Amino acid sequence: MFKVNDNYLKLPGSYLFSTIGKKVAAYTAANPDKSIIRLGIGDVTQPLAPAIIDALHDAVDEMAAAETFHGYAPDLGYEFLRNAMAKNDYQDKGCDISADEVFISDGAKCDSGNIQEIFSVDNKIAVCDPVYPVYVDTNVMAGRTGTYDPLKETWSDVIYMPCTADNNFAPELPKETPDIIYLCFPNNPTGSTITKAQLQEWVDYANKVGAVIIYDAAYEAYISEADVPHTIYECEGARTCAIELRSFSKNAGFTGVRLGATIIPKDLKCGDVTLHSLWARRHGTKYNGAPYIVQKAGEAVYSDAGKAQLSEQVAYYMNNAKVIYQGLKDAGYTVSGGVNAPYIWLKTPGSMTSWEFFDYLLENANVVGTPGSGFGPSGEGYFRLTAFGSYENTVAAIERIKKM
Ligand SMILES: *Cc1c(COP(=O)(O)O)cnc(C)c1O
Repeated sequence: MFKVNDNYLKLPGSYLFSTIGKKVAAYTAANPDKSIIRLGIGDVTQPLAPAIIDALHDAVDEMAAAETFHGYAPDLGYEFLRNAMAKNDYQDKGCDISADEVFISDGAKCDSGNIQEIFSVDNKIAVCDPVYPVYVDTNVMAGRTGTYDPLKETWSDVIYMPCTADNNFAPELPKETPDIIYLCFPNNPTGSTITKAQLQEWVDYANKVGAVIIYDAAYEAYISEADVPHTIYECEGARTCAIELRSFSKNAGFTGVRLGATIIPKDLKCGDVTLHSLWARRHGTKYNGAPYIVQKAGEAVYSDAGKAQLSEQVAYYMNNAKVIYQGLKDAGYTVSGGVNAPYIWLKTPGSMTSWEFFDYLLENANVVGTPGSGFGPSGEGYFRLTAFGSYENTVAAIERIKKM
């Protein structure tokens, strides 16, 4: 008789977005005349930029003729895209990353989930709390997290680094030494960032204790302040301790197109084994490459036209962020985020829990957001709104919240 991977059975149900869906459906059924504005799920809404659409069309036409047809892509990615990323995302910013350290994939969610399998199951992970759930859940599936405490909502073998108003939503170096540290800045869900000097402390710490940092840079394009690093490789010594995850989803609207990359410097070693060689082996064995058409679209992100159009697209969302941030502030809420990230993180008023505020907002403003407690115990008492809606809906939502 076969047996299942019973690590999966240890996973507590992640009911966050399904519970939100059910509550909204129930409210809509009872109040069919009400129009709901959704500022909950972190998905983009604006169409692909014209430069990207043109590249997609051209690539599709190439597939229609034998002379220009493309079959399997190289499993580590096409040179044209790896070169464009190495140059634009790293070398032009003074960071020492070469094209053969860039592994193209179909997105940062898969990579952030898969990367743990090149590490021993004995390694201890450290995560921010609240956190993007993928980091923890994929380590649960691998059997790396110990036992779950349903009351505390924590795993016995995970080091949690609370990020709350008390520390300005920036994690502190953990007391217990981790082997793998997950960091994501600008952060989902809190919208917070850390300065280059703060990130340098993490790089120095990781090099000192022999830990590896998995740095999720999915929201890099939303950074507006000068002292916030766009990549961990701006920090000295990051080549020997950091893996970086990149995504085209939020900077270029590729959530439905699918493209990402993982950067592994060749200097990142355990003894004389490079993590680069292990990830290359994994990619080669388990992955057949992101589609040619999509990689051509990715290349267009780095064209002059693509860059100009995408900075307008990011500015559109960040204007929404400003509307939400300022509107909530004017209405008396305690808010953070929204300056270098498309997420606004607000303190629920009075002693309301995250879910109580969810219901209150749904019923009184017909606005849907995301309860902070869904991202971890330290998210309790907070609430996330996203800037990914349309401008019109964003303005209308804030008007309604102000009237509550
Ligand atoms: C949206 C998001 C990603 C991007 O995932 P893709 O698979 O590239 O769409 C990665 N990390 C975080 C924290 C995110 O919020």
